Amino acid sequence: MPTGGGKSLCYQIPAIIRPGVGVVVSPLIALMQDQVSALHVLGVRAAFLNSTLSMDEVRHVEYQLESNQLDLLYIAPERLTSEWTQRLFQRIHIALFAIDEAHCVSQWGHDFRTDYLQLSVLHEKFPDIPRIALTATADEKTREEIVKRLDLAQAKAFISGFDRPNIQYRIVQKQNARQQLLNFIKNEHAGDAGIIYCLSRKKVEATAEWLVSKGINALPYHARLGNEIKQQNQHRFLMEEGIVIVATIAFGMGIDKPNVRFVAHLDLPKSIEGYYQETGRAGRDGQAANAWMAYGLQDVITLRQMLSGSDADEVHKRVEYHKLESMLALCELVSCRRQALLNYFGDQLNQPCGNCDTCLHPVETWDGTVVAQQALSCIYRTEQRFGASYLIDVLLGKSNDRLIGFGHDKQSTFGIGKQLDEKQWRSVFRQLVAKGYVAVDFEGYGAFRLTEQCRPVLRGEETLMLRKDFVDEKTNARKTVTKRAIKAAENNLWEALRKKRRELADAQDLPPFVIFHDATLMAMMDEMPQNQEQLSRISGVGDKKLELYGDDFLTVLREFDESVEPLVDTVGETLALFRLGYSVEKIALHRQLKDETVYNHLAKAIAEGQVKLDDVVSLNENEIQAIEDVIVNLPEENKNSLKPLFEHFEGEYSYSVLRCVRASFQQSAGLL
Ligand SMILES: [Zn+2]
Repeated sequence: MPTGGGKSLCYQIPAIIRPGVGVVVSPLIALMQDQVSALHVLGVRAAFLNSTLSMDEVRHVEYQLESNQLDLLYIAPERLTSEWTQRLFQRIHIALFAIDEAHCVSQWGHDFRTDYLQLSVLHEKFPDIPRIALTATADEKTREEIVKRLDLAQAKAFISGFDRPNIQYRIVQKQNARQQLLNFIKNEHAGDAGIIYCLSRKKVEATAEWLVSKGINALPYHARLGNEIKQQNQHRFLMEEGIVIVATIAFGMGIDKPNVRFVAHLDLPKSIEGYYQETGRAGRDGQAANAWMAYGLQDVITLRQMLSGSDADEVHKRVEYHKLESMLALCELVSCRRQALLNYFGDQLNQPCGNCDTCLHPVETWDGTVVAQQALSCIYRTEQRFGASYLIDVLLGKSNDRLIGFGHDKQSTFGIGKQLDEKQWRSVFRQLVAKGYVAVDFEGYGAFRLTEQCRPVLRGEETLMLRKDFVDEKTNARKTVTKRAIKAAENNLWEALRKKRRELADAQDLPPFVIFHDATLMAMMDEMPQNQEQLSRISGVGDKKLELYGDDFLTVLREFDESVEPLVDTVGETLALFRLGYSVEKIALHRQLKDETVYNHLAKAIAEGQVKLDDVVSLNENEIQAIEDVIVNLPEENKNSLKPLFEHFEGEYSYSVLRCVRASFQQSAGLL
């Protein structure tokens, strides 16, 4: 099931319904606290056990488990095998075992964790307790391995569609990647939360620093940062609005921040699984989000190099190689990206999606057979010893000392490629490498070599269609098509709602989205609920949250609600009916108001001299005088309160009557 598809509900609901506690195995220790806090806000009894807890805290959780006070327990995989845990599990009633991020058990997956191999203890020692394994990313092979290692051959497999229609996939050609990224953020995501992935720690730091200098609220995240800074940056990303994290792939697994509006890649991911999982962190709230990537020739070379330098065994290397090839194919695609992505996971999408770059800007192709032949023979004639820059110089006929030194200015391909410029030649070489016509010789300092595959092209037996790269990001700059346009007038309410959410979140040290998702706030803006009942019908507002936060948000909404009639109008309507001879009770019935409300309206009308007191209440002069005497003698601090009056007469006159008398008194005394 894709990220954001509701995986946790699959075990949370059964765990709550079934007797006993649901035990959730998760490798994401740093997130357990957040997951548990979010459950508490929903009124679910949850706790976690991991290495961050003190002895006392562990004992408290143990006590809660033994006295049946928990619905859900999150536990780190390395804890499962301990004697202590094993004995504890024998003593308590367990509703189910849920194995989250189950792909971590697979050595073929991209996120293998040795701790996960120990999960066999679950089916060996607790064969009668139901188990469920969940993952957001698993190709066929990984799925098979999950089933095998967790002994789930008898289990039913539920594979939901992988599509995330609200994510717009875009892969642009790298020119000046940082600047392209900055334009993308400024044009489309100013003030939004986002994640930017880079391959190296150095690049993460440099990019974060540069973005900060350009006014973006960016923070770095990578494995070497030190736990304290890492946690602090992750915490800020969760708790604050509009933080951009620049990270290596180490960041994000299980990060449950629903309103990440974009995920950007400055480097090519090693596999489609990785790309899909990382981009899947965008738009978990179902609102429009962007997956943006800049990709170029150097990416292809770097990844090929990493692969050839890896000391994995041959079989493993072949798998990695295959994965990289698929990723490259996705980048070079001229048809719908989403169709290809889904197809990779065995999902079918019959129509092009209409929400990816190739759908939105259909890619032109051109017959590149001749230029490919020129490029290939240039590689051959220069003895397969050079990389792209040098080869392009030869093709463009640019002589320099090095080139002259090798005598390549006299060589037959010198200057034969002037019909293209340097950028276009780079694009040609990238496509030749990506398609496997040219290999990169890493022992030969990254020199290009011909492969067997290029022979038919060289001999003119194969037509080679190339992609015309779409590079003009400026004309491409536009608001995401489906992004909800918040009008200026709505903007104040939006900001007010977010401010209220932030206040409530800060007060409890929770991330804002745990209070309510953006989508819920937007629904409030659409529906403008005026009372708890209406508010409770909005998606994302459960009983517990209604109780905790309902009034706070209703107050904000009321301040902005233009449909609530100004008081004077509703008074006017009551008055009109009253003048027509309607009694208070009849007006109340007709207008579906309470009697007291009608009296309130009439008291206002009395205060303004529009109605006479006698017409509203049936009191004699003595009674009115007696009440007025008490009003005059009320102490200053009680002048505006009806309660002392009510109590003085021991309930003989209702609040409504007293309010009218007071209004009349204030009017005649010129107090208003
Ligand atoms: Zn598409």
